[in-house]
Amino acid sequence: MAESDPNPRDVGVIFNPTRHEHELCLSKNLKKYTCSGCKEFGAEIGYKCSSSSCQDFTLHKDCATLPDVYEHSDGSFKFRSKTHLRHHCDACRDVLNGFAYETESNRLRLHPLCMVLPETLDFSGHAHKLKVVTSDLNGKEYTCSSCDSPIDSGCWRYQCEEVACKVYLDLSCAKVDIFGLKNSDIQRVAPVGMRLKFKSKIPSVGTVMNSVGTVMTSVGTATSVIGLSLG
Ligand SMILES: [Zn+2]
Ligand SMILES: [Zn+2]
Ligand SMILES: [Zn+2]
Ligand SMILES: [Zn+2]
Ligand SMILES: [Zn+2]
Repeated sequence: MAESDPNPRDVGVIFNPTRHEHELCLSKNLKKYTCSGCKEFGAEIGYKCSSSSCQDFTLHKDCATLPDVYEHSDGSFKFRSKTHLRHHCDACRDVLNGFAYETESNRLRLHPLCMVLPETLDFSGHAHKLKVVTSDLNGKEYTCSSCDSPIDSGCWRYQCEEVACKVYLDLSCAKVDIFGLKNSDIQRVAPVGMRLKFKSKIPSVGTVMNSVGTVMTSVGTATSVIGLSLG
C-alpha cells in the first residue's frame, strides 16, 4: 500500500509549512515520545524542532515528510492538521487527535502511519509473513496475538498468510514492529481505550465509504469515552 514517494525522505533539516512553523531536524536515538502531529507514540527516529520557543516538538518521520496529497490504493488522500474530535481512523478505529489524511469524496480518514502500512510484515518471532487485511472484515472479531485485546469488526488487521496459524495483529501493535519501536518499551502506539466501539457491524471498508453518515451518527454513545481518554 505504501507508494513510492517522490519527496526526499532522509534530509537532515526540512521546512514543511503544513506541518510546523519552524525548521525541523532529523534526530536519531530518540527515547519514546508522543508525536506532536498525530499523537501516537514514536521512538528512535523523528524530526525535532530546534527553535527555543518550541519545547519538545517532535514528529514521526512520516508525519513530517509525507506529501500533502498522497496517492493510496483507496484513493487520493489530503493532509489535514486537525480533524473533528469525534473523528476516528477508518483503519485502526483509534481516535484522530491531530494530523490525519482524508479523501474528498468518500470521507475516509486515516492516521498518517496507518496510510503507509506495508502489505506484508515480518512479525517478530513468527515463522510466516503477516499480510494486511483491509476488506472482507465481515463482522467477525479477532483477538490480537500480541496484546490480547479484541480487534473490533471493521478494523484493518494483519494476519498470517497461513490461515491455519490464526495469528492476528491489530494495527496499533503492528505499527510497533513496522516503525521500529519495539526496543523502546512501547507495546502499542496508542492505548486500547482510544479505540471507538461500534454497535453496527461493518462488513467491509467499501461499506464504510458508502455509509459514513450512518456510521458517524452512531458514534454518539462513544463520545463520552473519547472525552475521558483525551482528558
Ligand atoms: Zn505522527
Ligand atoms: Zn517550532
Ligand atoms: Zn489509524
Ligand atoms: Zn503463521
Ligand atoms: Zn495488539
